[in-house]
Amino acid sequence: MTLLAARMGTLGTENAFRVGDDIARCIARGMDVVRLNIGEPDFDSAPHINEAAIAQIRAGNSHYTDPQGTPALRAAVATHVARTRGVPADASRVIITTGGKPSIGFTMQAYVDPGDEVIYPSPGFPIYESWVTYVGATPVPLSLRERSGFTFTAQDLATRITPRTKVIILCSPSNPTGGVLTQVELAAIAQVVRERCRPDVRVYSDEIYEHIVFDGAVHHSIAAEPGMAERTIIASGHSKGYAMTGWRLGWALLPTPEEAQIFKQLNINSISCVPPFIQEAGRVALESPESGPAVEHMVSAFQGRRDWVVGALNAIDGVQCQVPKGAFYVFPNVAGVCDRLGILADYDRLSGDTRARTSPSRMLQGFLLERYGVATMDRNSFGRIGADGEHFLRLSIAASLDRLREGVRRGQQAFDDRGGWTQYWSTANGHGSPEAPRLAPTGVSP
Ligand code: PLP
Repeated sequence: MTLLAARMGTLGTENAFRVGDDIARCIARGMDVVRLNIGEPDFDSAPHINEAAIAQIRAGNSHYTDPQGTPALRAAVATHVARTRGVPADASRVIITTGGKPSIGFTMQAYVDPGDEVIYPSPGFPIYESWVTYVGATPVPLSLRERSGFTFTAQDLATRITPRTKVIILCSPSNPTGGVLTQVELAAIAQVVRERCRPDVRVYSDEIYEHIVFDGAVHHSIAAEPGMAERTIIASGHSKGYAMTGWRLGWALLPTPEEAQIFKQLNINSISCVPPFIQEAGRVALESPESGPAVEHMVSAFQGRRDWVVGALNAIDGVQCQVPKGAFYVFPNVAGVCDRLGILADYDRLSGDTRARTSPSRMLQGFLLERYGVATMDRNSFGRIGADGEHFLRLSIAASLDRLREGVRRGQQAFDDRGGWTQYWSTANGHGSPEAPRLAPTGVSP
C-alpha cells in the first residue's frame, strides 16, 4: 500500500504560488525582494465594489445560494458577454465559480476521457497541462513561437487535430506571452475547428485577461465566429480586470444549459456555491458605471510600465523582449544571458535525471532570486512538454514603476556577474546547501 493515489503523480502545480516559499526564505535572510513573479494587479479592488460586499454582509446575505450562481450575477455575466463580444448569452448557460481556475478542471472532468487528446498553448497557463495529465488525457502542446510574435497559425492548429482531439484550449490575451489573437486570426482558427473537428469537440477560450489589452485594441472571442458559440466555453472572471484576485470570483459561459448543469454539479461536489455577498459585489463590478474608469486607469498604468520595461530589457545585451499586446507580463528571451553566464554549459554538465528536473532559465531564475533578490518565473513554469531549448523568463509588470526599475537594474548587474553565477552554482548545485535552488520540476510531476 502506498499513501497517495497514483494519479497524484500526474498533477502539476502553479509555480507562481510555489516560489513564494523561496521568496520567504530570501526575506528571512534579510534580502529585499523585488517581486515580479506573481500574476496579480498591484491595485486593490475599487471602493464601490468593496462597499457593495460590505453592505451585503451587513444585510445578512451570508447563506448558501444557488450552486450555479445567483440569477442576478449570471444575468449580468450574460449581458456583459453579449455586449463585449457580440455573442448571444443567457443566464441558464452561465456558471459562477471560485475564480477563473476551476473551469479549467471542470472542463477536463466534464468532457475528457483517458486517452483523449487536449491541445493547449505552450507557453501557457500551467494549470492546463496539469489537468490534462491528471485526467489521463494526452497533452498536445501548441507551441507559441517567439519569431511569430508568440502566436500560432490556423495551420499549426490543424496539424495537431486528430480524431482523438476532444478539447482545444485558447488563451487570449495570453499568460505568459501577452499575445493577443486578432479577429482575423480567430476567424481562421474557427474555420479549422469547424472543418476538422466533430461537433462534440469543445474549445475552451480562456479570456480572463479580456479587460487588459493595450494600444486601443479590442478583445475578441472565438465564440463570436460563425458556428463557434455552439462549441465554445468562454471562461473569465473578476481576478485580473477588476483586481479581485483574492475574492475568488470567476465565471464561464457554456454552449448549452445542459452543460452548465454539469458544471453546477461539479460546483455542488466541491465548493457548493460562491459566497453570495461576493457574487453581489461581482455583479456591481460588471454593472456599475464606476468600474470602467477604474479598469482604464489600471490598464493605462500597465501600458506605461510595459513601454518602459520592454525598452529597458531590450537594452540589455543577451535579452530580447517582444512588446506584449495585453495581460500584464513581459516574456523576454534570455538565451544570450544563459550563454554568457555559462548556465547553458553548466546545464549540459548535469546528469540526465537532474537535467530533466530543471532548465537553464530555471537556473537563472534561482540565481536572480537568491543572489539579486528579483523574483521572476522561468519558461518551464508555463508548460514543460516540448519546452526544451527555450530560454525565457516571465516578469509581471503588475508592480510599481519604481520596483520595476529596481528589478531591471539588479537584473542587468546579475546578467554580467559571471563570477557570481559560478560561485552560486558551485555552492548550490545539489549539495544540500540552504541556498540550493529548487530543481523541482514545473508543471507535471516526474
Ligand atoms: N487563466 C489564466 C490564463 C491565468 O493567468 C489565471 C491566473 O493567473 C487564471 C486562469 C486563474 O485565475 P483566477 O485567479 O481567477 O483563478
